[in-house]
Order: sequence, then structure tokens, then C-alpha cells
Amino acid sequence: MENYDKMLENIYSKLQSSKSTSGERFEIPQFEVLIEGKNKTIIKNFRKVCDTIRRDPVMLSKNISKEVGAPVDIDNERLIIHRKVFPIVLQKKLDFFVNEFVICKQCGKPDTNIATVERTKMLVCESCGARRPVR
Ligand SMILES: [Zn+2]
Repeated sequence: MENYDKMLENIYSKLQSSKSTSGERFEIPQFEVLIEGKNKTIIKNFRKVCDTIRRDPVMLSKNISKEVGAPVDIDNERLIIHRKVFPIVLQKKLDFFVNEFVICKQCGKPDTNIATVERTKMLVCESCGARRPVR
């Protein structure tokens, strides 16, 4: 464990020295939303957004389905929601999802992954090594 900590410390100091000047902040991607008729909403760039935030499309689709209370289908690049949902509502859901399941609360970077440790889902930061449980 001590070696692991040292390794993280090492990585962290390297990151700090190489990135200290940029100060860039992660920008949450924007959904491109199309409302079709009365009961259908399409997120045109769904897969692209998932690639950007590096999360499984299935995980995000389930989260959206639960949040808007409607069934969804992944259709290649797109997500089809079987309900009319306004773009601003979907964007807020995405913002929440990213803050909860992507951004590291310690260092604010999106370089994280989700790992299961002893049956608990953890958000693990690749930049600073911070971990926190997620729902
Ligand atoms: Zn971090």
C-alpha cells in the first residue's frame, strides 16, 4: 500500500507540474435534442456525449430513463426517449450526472472511472487518486 501511495504522489506531482499553467476546466458536453411529436424526444449526439465523459451509454441511458420516468432506447448514435422532454431538462440531468458520476470532487478533473470495490460502486480519480462511493 505504501508503494501505491508513493506512486500516486509521484503521478500527482508530475501532473501538477505539467498542467499547472493550463488551468483548463472540464466543460460538460451539450446534448443535441430533437422533440418529435407528442411522445418522443431524441438525443442526437448521445453516444458522442458518452464518449466525451467516458461513461457507458447503458449507464447514462438508465439514469435518464429513471430521471424522466419514461422508457428509452439506444439507437446507434442516438437515444430515443418515449416521452416529450424539454432540452433544458435533459441538460440539467446530464449536468447532474457528470457532477455526480464523472467529476472528481477532490481535484475537479473528469479523469475518473467507476470501479466496484467490495460490492460498492466507487468513483476513482486517475489524476489524484481520490475515491468516493457513488449510488
Ligand atoms: Zn481527483
